[in-house]
Amino acid sequence: MRVHNFGAGPSTLPLDVLEEAREEFLDYQGSGMSVIEMSHRSPAYQELHAEVLATARRLVEAPEDVEVAIVQGGASLQFAMVPLNLLEPELTAGYAVTGTWAAKAMADASRVGPVYAAWDGTAEGFRRTPADDELVVHAGTRYLHITTNETIGGIRYPEWPRVAVPIVADMSSDFMVRPVDWGRVALVYGGVQKNLGPSGAALVFIHRDLLEATSELPNYLSYRWHVEHRSLGNTPPMFTIYVMGKVLARIEERGGVAALAEETRRKADLIYGAIDRSEGFYRSPVDPAHRSHTNVVFRLSDAELEARFVEEAARAGLVGLRGHRSVGGCRASLYAGLTFESVERLAEFMDEFARR
Ligand code: PMP
Repeated sequence: MRVHNFGAGPSTLPLDVLEEAREEFLDYQGSGMSVIEMSHRSPAYQELHAEVLATARRLVEAPEDVEVAIVQGGASLQFAMVPLNLLEPELTAGYAVTGTWAAKAMADASRVGPVYAAWDGTAEGFRRTPADDELVVHAGTRYLHITTNETIGGIRYPEWPRVAVPIVADMSSDFMVRPVDWGRVALVYGGVQKNLGPSGAALVFIHRDLLEATSELPNYLSYRWHVEHRSLGNTPPMFTIYVMGKVLARIEERGGVAALAEETRRKADLIYGAIDRSEGFYRSPVDPAHRSHTNVVFRLSDAELEARFVEEAARAGLVGLRGHRSVGGCRASLYAGLTFESVERLAEFMDEFARR
């Protein structure tokens, strides 16, 4: 029996994608082999690969001068690649510290070059994202790094910030469920294991201007190298890309990013609705205007009751609801692969558990 999986990533994928992959597994399109056994230089794989890159670009509505790359190492490698590729002598970068992931991105960047906190929500306990006029951007700033959605804290920027420098965004937990404002954004990246597929890669969109400036880097760390080789400079994570292709095709069929953004908001409304009508039985620790649509974080009165909630939910087939180990509490991740029905089941369970 398949469960309703609210895990924060890797996370649930559309059932028909899994079934199709199973169906094709031993013999991909008459090749007599599975996609993970074939050469990455074979025509069958090259076609699949090119199609995935093209679909990804269409979905984020990338302008002509924005390039796409698939890079292994997840979002974590991007924490290093962004400053390695973008920082230049005399230039710095600002980081909006909105939670665990933004802090990690900044910590890695600080090992590469001089960076600073453009805003820091640590003292407030990461309950919200900054308003535009709270972001302090120094002279000589190459980019402002933001985390559009904090997966652990459960907060999101309600709007793309308006600042005088290009934005670099970690979109790991709201990739393809939030449109990208290309007027303000120079680079976005995210691990694909939440909304888009299995783990094993980050998807990166980068403005071509930023490739010009790239200094001499080892090949794999260079965006220019990935773009010039269409992400086939070395052996790519073929299975990840293959499954991601199927997920992206479905997102496109479902109306693309705008439709998915709306659907995700409606999913989130169902769970926040259960929290808000529980009269304090469930509590959301975040500022209502900054509530994440993809990671709904909530608390019960004590850790014991939270453990009981997670355990009874699991018995009802609702799994992955334990909060991140660093913060405790509960968290429901509502990614693109999760059905509306799963979310309805959780909202009903929350009502019923609170009543009991
Ligand atoms: N950024 C965010 C917002 C995340 O949620 C995560 C993973 N949960 C990461 C970065 C790190 O991603 P990866 O595991 O792909 O390195």
